[in-house]
Amino acid sequence: MSAARIRLLAIEDDPQIQRFLLAALEAHGYALEIAAAGNDGLRLAALHQPDVVIVDLGLPDMSGLDVIGRLREWYKRPILVLSARNRESDKVAALDLGADDYLTKPFGIGELLARLRVAQRHLAARTDDQTQARIEIGALVIDLASHRVQRDGVDIHLTPIEYRLLATLAQHRGKVLTHRHLLRDVWGAAHVESPHYLRIYMRALRHKIEAEPARPRYLLTEVGVGYRLADAPVDA
Ligand code: CA
Repeated sequence: MSAARIRLLAIEDDPQIQRFLLAALEAHGYALEIAAAGNDGLRLAALHQPDVVIVDLGLPDMSGLDVIGRLREWYKRPILVLSARNRESDKVAALDLGADDYLTKPFGIGELLARLRVAQRHLAARTDDQTQARIEIGALVIDLASHRVQRDGVDIHLTPIEYRLLATLAQHRGKVLTHRHLLRDVWGAAHVESPHYLRIYMRALRHKIEAEPARPRYLLTEVGVGYRLADAPVDA
């Protein structure tokens, strides 16, 4: 899927960020439409069916969270959230409402393009309706078909829960998953309020996967929100 065919809708009221998005995205071949309020955004989304919607959480006429909730009643493609710093609870709420990822303001072009590449890959995977059986991230290989995990060609032995945690992150690689999402998928709905499970197993998983568990290159913490399996190993 080439960037030239990707149509974006940004629902954002800040003129400075509107200009930044226009300059950054049009230069990289995306087609961008902007709505300055939630109601306009919902109308344009329904009218033009964009490939990805970017939603600012602070909008003049309604909450960005309400926009996401309303969009998710029918819109199945990726939603990327723009949020102010130190508003972790908003990010978690947005992700739990069905947003795919978020960017914290201020953000750079590189970060924006990286998030859009992840969104595009998930868009393509949804369209193909098939998941990738073998995932390679640098030296890390996760084979979802055979349940094998290797780093630098060496098998890594995981417990069933460690494997399920890694596989869940791998199926959404590049994308942040909330604590609640991971607890629900790995341990089940009864355990969504048990974040310590996650901390303990994430620590164990890092000790097996990462060369330096204290400086993870694959299993990244999103403070106050959740975890992300890096799309490519982060520079140590
Ligand atoms: Ca705003």
